[in-house]
Amino acid sequence: MNSEALRAAPTDRIEISNLVVTAIVGALPHERELAQPIRVDLSLHVDVGDAGRTDDLSDTANYGEVAVCVADAVRESKDVLLERLAERIAEVVLAFDRVEGVDVTVTKVRPPIAEQVESTAVRIVRRRADFEQATRDPHTAIVALGSNLGDRDGYLRLAVSRLGDVVAMSQVFETDPMGPEGQGAYLNMVVVVRTWLDPYALLRRCQRIESEAMRQRLVRWGPRTLDVDLLFFDDVTIDDPDLTVPHPGIGERRFVLAPLSEVAAERCPPGWDERLPPSGVHPRGPLSV
Ligand code: ATP
Ligand code: CA
Ligand code: CA
Repeated sequence: MNSEALRAAPTDRIEISNLVVTAIVGALPHERELAQPIRVDLSLHVDVGDAGRTDDLSDTANYGEVAVCVADAVRESKDVLLERLAERIAEVVLAFDRVEGVDVTVTKVRPPIAEQVESTAVRIVRRRADFEQATRDPHTAIVALGSNLGDRDGYLRLAVSRLGDVVAMSQVFETDPMGPEGQGAYLNMVVVVRTWLDPYALLRRCQRIESEAMRQRLVRWGPRTLDVDLLFFDDVTIDDPDLTVPHPGIGERRFVLAPLSEVAAERCPPGWDERLPPSGVHPRGPLSV
């Protein structure tokens, strides 16, 4: 049992009420043809004590993102039963960092039955601990690290220590900088992380580590103490300016592909090693401790 399961279940709740999505749900022929309004009410079990102290969004579950993901899942599902849809919604919500449990109510606002009934609904309660043990494996994320300012090794070590369960590390490569002239050489490496976080939560963690390294964004591709990019997240594809996965720059960057080929060669495009000029990327050995 993991440490999250051992922790006392939170009594705090974040409520998302009356999320109405038009979707195909139901067993009757006309329900398979015509979308109908489905109401979703969620009560997220989240310990909001940290966020209450820090006022920091990354210390709680982002209910905006939860609502968007749930609405997408409902629209895409086309389930026959509300029971199946409720289960699916619970899985989506429990994939969010910090959500320890969830009450899901799924309501048909216009139920197709002869008697005078205002609505019909299914309500389920699911806890992360049960769910993880029963159905989930942790995610595998592949993360690229880069530094060309200050204590470069120290910043790479900071990232490795703060990313969570790092299960594989490439060696460190010293590489010529991309972007504006006049900046120092980079140290680059790629690590594999085993995580229960969802992709957005992992991105927030990466960004928080950059802030801890006092990363400043002055010019595009300018010098930085630490850059932490999410290259892959399982086989997930996300096309959002805030989070594009797989990371769009991978195929053209030897400073990413060379370390990536050491920890996940199957993720590298075939022939990259011949196609990209070999200059400017020098292996420097394992990260020093
Ligand atoms: P590049 O993304 O070309 O390597 P960069 O690392 O210098 O450039 P940043 O300034 O670090 O760019 O990040 C700019 C934005 O990219 C961030 O606000 C972040 O939300 C977004 N972004 C989109 N996809 C990813 C991803 N896969 N990993 C990290 N950041 C991403
Ligand atoms: Ca980058
Ligand atoms: Ca980045």
